[in-house]
Amino acid sequence: MWRRVREIILQDVNNENEIKMYAVILRMNLLAMLVYYVIVLGSALVAGRQGAGIVAALGAALCVGLFYDTYQNKTRFVAFTFNVSITLLVLLYALMYGNQTYIYNFLYVQIVLLYAVDYLSAKKKAACVALLVAFRLWLFYHTEKSGVVYAIGVHESTFLQVLHIITTCTMLVTIVSISTQDFREMQEKLVSYNQKLRNIAGNDPLTGLRNRRSAMEYIGGKVRKYQAGDCSALTIAIGDIDFFKRINDTYGHNYGDVVLKTLADLFRSFMEGKGQAARWGGEEFLFIFYNINGDEASCMLSELRQLIHRMEFRLGSDLIKITMTFGVAEYDLRNNADITINEADQKLYTGKEKGRDIIIY
Ligand code: GH3
Ligand code: MG
Ligand code: MG
Repeated sequence: MWRRVREIILQDVNNENEIKMYAVILRMNLLAMLVYYVIVLGSALVAGRQGAGIVAALGAALCVGLFYDTYQNKTRFVAFTFNVSITLLVLLYALMYGNQTYIYNFLYVQIVLLYAVDYLSAKKKAACVALLVAFRLWLFYHTEKSGVVYAIGVHESTFLQVLHIITTCTMLVTIVSISTQDFREMQEKLVSYNQKLRNIAGNDPLTGLRNRRSAMEYIGGKVRKYQAGDCSALTIAIGDIDFFKRINDTYGHNYGDVVLKTLADLFRSFMEGKGQAARWGGEEFLFIFYNINGDEASCMLSELRQLIHRMEFRLGSDLIKITMTFGVAEYDLRNNADITINEADQKLYTGKEKGRDIIIY
């Protein structure tokens, strides 16, 4: 039932030149006003006020008619008529009961509505606001000077005050929340789109590890921490798969990719709590150890080397074993990070020359 009501209120306008949001705002406000008129009608019947009852009944009928019109490509007409009807209501209330029913709150709703259901130019809107303010001031002085038609008691004026506060607040909240919803949705989309772009720009698509650019950003951040004294040591290692070309040549490039992905998963979990692993390029990986010195990192890499030894890649009846060579260098405040990376690269080269499957620090 609630879902059906929601669908009816949110139903789109069947005209390309009309804006759905405006129709929805007007429908919600017409419903609020309908409830308001029904309550006023009930209380007028109880109090035996025929005039107030007739006005409330006419108001309720107008709301139903205008609500229907929002589905007939008449949103602009509805907005205009609704505003005029509210102005008349304010006029009638002020003349009849004076200034103590908080009826003027409806004028503020009108001002917000003018900007939310945006059919007028900026100049026309400003003119309408000026007119409404002038109208409010005139009514105030007029009723103060000329007195009221009906002097209502404390109970009735309190009842009307509460009713007007609740009705106008409900209208203001619906106008603001509906008109900012699109903006909020757009912002959320933008944030998640930005996140996606950042991931695409910073992640290697094959392995999901950081790419070279993102690795350099990460190192830059850690170097700044180091320089600020928030980091005790920073160690960088480059690991290169031994004879990887043979794997590609023997089992195919696709299988080579499987090996790269499987190793990347191992590196990701291995580096948890230690720092970050990144794909430096091809079959070379970068390991950034944060708060870990060169000796400690070398010990950790020995463990990793053992884990790689124990990995078994099978294709048909073939058992493929992988080894890696690592070069390790500790960051030194006197140098920059590029020099540390170069040093690690040199040591990797030395490792390859020494026969591979080795860690050189
Ligand atoms: P070394 O022990 O000296 O490192 O020998 P290697 O064969 O590993 O070294 P080399 O640099 O000769 O070969 C690296 C190979 O890595 C060549 C290239 O085809 C392969 N490679 C680079 N990127 C990818 C990739 O994304 N997928 C696959 N399957 N292979 C890649
Ligand atoms: Mg290699
Ligand atoms: Mg290589």
